Amino acid sequence: MRSLARPLFLKDHTERLLCPLPLGIDTYRGCAGGCAYCSLNGLRTEIKCGGEVSPNSVRYIEKFFYRHKTSMERQLIDQRCPVQLGVSSDPLQPAEREHRVTLRVLKILADFEYPTVITTKFPDQLIEADHLRELDAMPLVVQCSISSVDEALLGRIEPGAPSLAQRLEALRVLADAGAHVQLRLWPFASDLCGDVARLLAMVKDTGVRTVLANPLKVYHAGGIRESINKAIGRDYLAATSLRYENHGLFDVPCHKDLSRELSQLRDLCRQFGLNLLNCDDCTGRNWQSCCGVDGLPDFENIAKWAYFVNGYRITQYTDFETYMRGHDCPWHDEFNQEWNKGKLSESIPELIFHKEDKTYSRLERCAEIPEKAESSKADILEL
Ligand code: SF4
Repeated sequence: MRSLARPLFLKDHTERLLCPLPLGIDTYRGCAGGCAYCSLNGLRTEIKCGGEVSPNSVRYIEKFFYRHKTSMERQLIDQRCPVQLGVSSDPLQPAEREHRVTLRVLKILADFEYPTVITTKFPDQLIEADHLRELDAMPLVVQCSISSVDEALLGRIEPGAPSLAQRLEALRVLADAGAHVQLRLWPFASDLCGDVARLLAMVKDTGVRTVLANPLKVYHAGGIRESINKAIGRDYLAATSLRYENHGLFDVPCHKDLSRELSQLRDLCRQFGLNLLNCDDCTGRNWQSCCGVDGLPDFENIAKWAYFVNGYRITQYTDFETYMRGHDCPWHDEFNQEWNKGKLSESIPELIFHKEDKTYSRLERCAEIPEKAESSKADILEL
């Protein structure tokens, strides 16, 4: 795991395989959001949610934009690979009112008219005059997390974050100012979210066209199960109709239940003309960018080598060279090693790895050629 002391960073090895936004910035260490489910407390990181929040060094970030000549981070910046602001802690949390670190970083990004994705529960901070002024020249996507339309419940599971009405109003202002706004149903639990259709109608009105949804994971460590139970007033895992199962560090709905939930959500989104994306390894990827920024003007240079973005290239017995053709990927050799180990099929359930020739096929395509499917299934068992 990366050191959280580095406020501008390349995402770790596994994320680089799958995430088209490999460049991240955290302007604060720690978060005061106090969300009941926050994974910060469940991970073995040096910072915690609800603990001390300290501002990160703007100088450290500046040096990659203004001084570094040769680092990988600088190469990605030169390629105008979009940066994600707010990977491990919220960049617009209350500490921003005092320290203004995110505002100073926005000034740097605005200076470069740099494509930026901001992930936050505090979009209201972004519409204050000094922040809004900086957004003028920036290609910007704002991903706003909202986990429930039930305002009372929302106040208990995300006690430090602004109300639903404040977040929606901020999204409206940001969309009017030219930002691409997205809803992050993250975490998504249909039995906590309330009237999802109502929420989708409300965000559609603000300008949202893309919804990102990932399931509620209940981490084993950090007292997260207890804090969720306390916030909602019942034992969630015991009461939910979803079948949760152990997934290493956390419990997550079983594949069948999660697939059903997401497919119902996708149908509902379609009724509102919204596109649903998810990037959860438990349910598989969508064969497109899960951040929903590819295709937007000025965001063309997302990392198209990330496996699932160009996953459509994987058909039957697709080899590495075919997959990577035309990609200027800085991690070509690293990816090649992962590819040859069959790692991709571990992350994406519908892929199978043929170890004899180091190629991949999609499961449904293999089903069309039974003799190949049999050999491939054997491969999976041996992995
Ligand atoms: S806003 Fe995000 S980082 Fe902060 S406590 Fe909530 S979930 Fe954790």
